[in-house]
Amino acid sequence: MKAPPFSYIRAETIEGVIECLQKYGDDAVVLAGGQSLMASLNMRLSAPGVLIDINNVDSLSEIALDGNHLRIGAMTRQIEVEQSPLVTQHAPLISMAMPYIAHPAIRNRGTIGGSIAFADPAAELPACIVSLQADLIAQGSKGERKIPATEFFRGLYETALTSDEILIAIELPIAADDRKFAFKELARRHGDYAMIGVCACTEWSERSLSETRLVYFNAGDQPVVAENTASALKGVLSAENLESALEHLAEDLDPPSDLNADSSMRLHLAKVLTQRIFQEWMS
Ligand SMILES: Cc1cc2nc3c(=O)[nH]c(=O)nc-3n(C[C@H](O)[C@H](O)[C@H](O)COP(=O)(O)OP(=O)(O)OC[C@H]3O[C@@H](n4cnc5c(N)ncnc54)[C@H](O)[C@@H]3O)c2cc1C
Repeated sequence: MKAPPFSYIRAETIEGVIECLQKYGDDAVVLAGGQSLMASLNMRLSAPGVLIDINNVDSLSEIALDGNHLRIGAMTRQIEVEQSPLVTQHAPLISMAMPYIAHPAIRNRGTIGGSIAFADPAAELPACIVSLQADLIAQGSKGERKIPATEFFRGLYETALTSDEILIAIELPIAADDRKFAFKELARRHGDYAMIGVCACTEWSERSLSETRLVYFNAGDQPVVAENTASALKGVLSAENLESALEHLAEDLDPPSDLNADSSMRLHLAKVLTQRIFQEWMS
């Protein structure tokens, strides 16, 4: 199938993008790497009248230290994030997740902002930024605002962005020395969307855990924070408290069923992945 007809505008500045969004309203969408958008147009799952190409807005592509944050511009290609020494050093969870996103050809074009703004509940990056408690920087006709990642995702493919706003950057807190991170997912083939996946981060001191966050993807209509399981893991990590903490996962997760796995299978796989993380940390 071919995409329905649309008008094409190539923007050069953020202000230009916002002017177009104001002018065309809900009939316009921004085109970033196109890896999800073009497929959805070609399959006629969406039919916007106007595409606003933001690939020429240079100010949106950067990876820089900014105070106690690592700031990544929304148009930074996924491959650049994957290969960035700054990301490896200051946001190791993101580096761990990047190789699991699709295939290199897709990561060459796909952008970090596109993956987050698309808000696919099966995607890796939304779960990562929720577990890191990152901030998202949006810009629209009323100026710039900061949205906590924990408030950004509103449901299936839905975000807190208004129709005249774009995501311009992601601000990740710099990883402190006492933080430990892990990322795991299960997919039938490497590069496929995961059946289920988990991001973990914690404060780690002499095998004792505090401030643990566990966030699951493809476990609901948005990243799912497992609060009961994480708080049951507080204290010294042992095989016994891991086992009893994992009992709480069923309170936190009620994953959907689909052709790949039913809900109980997903919950089981989530337990297995979580167990592996903490067993590796104990060994
Ligand atoms: C075969 C295949 C396999 C894939 N596997 C995975 C996978 O395993 N994991 C995964 O996470 N992803 C996967 N993807 C998706 C891929 O990561 C996309 O690159 C990503 O979802 C969208 O990024 P993009 O830059 O291409 O955005 P686009 O496709 O250009 O845009 C996606 C949506 O986000 C909006 N948007 C983009 N940028 C902004 C912005 N700055 N502000 C506001 N709105 C914006 C667009 O308007 C559009 O609605 C896969 C894609 C393909 C084709």
